[in-house]
Formats: sequence, structure tokens, C-alpha cells
Amino acid sequence: MTSKEERELKPALVSACLLGKECRYDGAHNRDAALNRTMAERGERAVPFCPEEHGGLGTPRPPAWIESRDAAAVLAGEARVVTERGLDVTAEFLAGARGALEACRAAGAERAYLKERSPSCGARSTHVDGALTDGPGVTTALLESAGIEVEGVEGRRG
Ligand code: SF4
Repeated sequence: MTSKEERELKPALVSACLLGKECRYDGAHNRDAALNRTMAERGERAVPFCPEEHGGLGTPRPPAWIESRDAAAVLAGEARVVTERGLDVTAEFLAGARGALEACRAAGAERAYLKERSPSCGARSTHVDGALTDGPGVTTALLESAGIEVEGVEGRRG
């Protein structure tokens, strides 16, 4: 593909772990070959981004979840994100979410493909108090509030 053809592809933010980056909390990835095909069919190019690494959390890192409420409450400053040992990582999750929105704006991305079930990237499901719960993660909630269309991706290996 020439650089001109690459420029003509529409940018879309993608959870970096879905592209094979080993940035999951446990140091693994969630590469999704089907996503690559979907984006090619839609004429899109991936802008990789990991909110939790961007927010300053290293890899590997302890699992974390939204405490008690939901991502909207975290964005409103009314709820925290905590690790399984109760460490407050709200600031890091918010920094990651803001970084994702800045990355979308810098690239001109109007769509994001984010990894389901993550407390940052989940689209239809996330983790609250250690359990899988309906609702978005913190990054998804912020992107959607800014008009970015978020599509959840399961993360199939391949
Ligand atoms: S789901 Fe999101 S925050 Fe978690 S590793 Fe993937 S890109 Fe990073």
C-alpha cells in the first residue's frame, strides 16, 4: 500500500491489545484477526492505543474495576477505580480515557474498536466490584460522551 492510499483510509482508534500488543494487565494480548478484516472492508486504518498504559499503569499490573457504581460516576468524580487490593487507580484510568479522546481528535477518528469487558475499554460490559456487569468502561464512556462511536470487540486470538 502506498502512503497516499494509507492517508485515504479512515482512522479508527483500536485497543492496542486487539492488535497484538502485550499490554493486558497480565502481560498477554487479545489479537483479533476478524477485526483486521472488518477494518479492511470498511476502509479503515488502526490508531493503536492502550488507555491503562497511557495513564501510567505498567504492564503487568493488578486487575482493577469500577467501585460500586458505573463509568459515568467515575467521570463525574463520584466513584473510584480500584485494584483487587483496594489501591485507588482512578487518576490513572481518567488520564488514560482523556488520552484516548486526545488521540481520536489528533488522528481525526470518529470510531473506536475497543476490547469488551475491560474496566477501561469495555463497550457493552465491564467490571464493577470484581464482577462482569452491563455498561461501558471508563474510556468508552468518555469517548461516547464526546460523540465517538465505540464498537466492542471480543478479542479472538488468531
Ligand atoms: S483492554 Fe484497553 S486498557 Fe486493557 S490492555 Fe487492552 S487496550 Fe489496554
